[in-house]
Amino acid sequence: MSLRWKRALLKISGEVLGGKEGPLDEGAFSFYAGEIGRAREAGAELAVVVGGGNVARGAALPFLPQTSGHIVGMLGTLLNGVVLREFLLRKGVPALLMSALPVAGVAEPVDPWRAKEAMGSGSVVIFAAGTGDPYVTTDTAAVIRALSVEAEVVLKASKVPGLYDDDPLRNPEAKFLPRLSHREYLARGLRVMDQAAVAIAQENGLPILVFKADKEGALLEALSGKRGSLIGGEG
Ligand code: UDP
Repeated sequence: MSLRWKRALLKISGEVLGGKEGPLDEGAFSFYAGEIGRAREAGAELAVVVGGGNVARGAALPFLPQTSGHIVGMLGTLLNGVVLREFLLRKGVPALLMSALPVAGVAEPVDPWRAKEAMGSGSVVIFAAGTGDPYVTTDTAAVIRALSVEAEVVLKASKVPGLYDDDPLRNPEAKFLPRLSHREYLARGLRVMDQAAVAIAQENGLPILVFKADKEGALLEALSGKRGSLIGGEG
């Protein structure tokens, strides 16, 4: 399968990393580590932004001032990063963990130059703690990190096959949309990928592919442009 994009940033939400047994689903981490390893073997240069919704979301902690809630949310993404690194290393995939809230001895600070160099020499770089700032989400971090490491695309791992004109989980008649411009996505008020994140991607001409990621080989198919819905990517 030939790759449509060689350097890509994969956004994995916390939602897909948690399970019934608790916030950290061993099977999900193992699955995504396997997917990432396969994509790397096919020649892709990958960075990953991990979400944290499986651990905590700032907005879901009303007993805390919002700023503290978001910091807790960001630290949740760091847990996911530590676990994903372990699963990648276990599969023989060299991996670096960079965190926007660095924790000495656990994750190094975000360094786009070092990240690019590591990706170029076959390591997978995991970015944790979102942007490091409250009031935004890891979707925004995904777009910013993708731009910083000059990724050609953001691949958003989703539970649904892509974009629809209505919520496919509630409306079985919802129509699949294989492609939309950033402007159309924003105008329709779609939310699979945060609007703020898509606005930054639009300003910088960065395409975003939303794809269903829970099947073996899905990441490689996404990288080959054979899966999902594309936002932007004109020309
Ligand atoms: N968060 C934040 N700043 C960021 C990224 C995340 O404050 O740059 C917080 C925010 O509270 C968010 C939580 O971390 O709810 C978890 O991130 P997100 O909701 O993006 O995770 P996902 O939905 O991808 O699992």
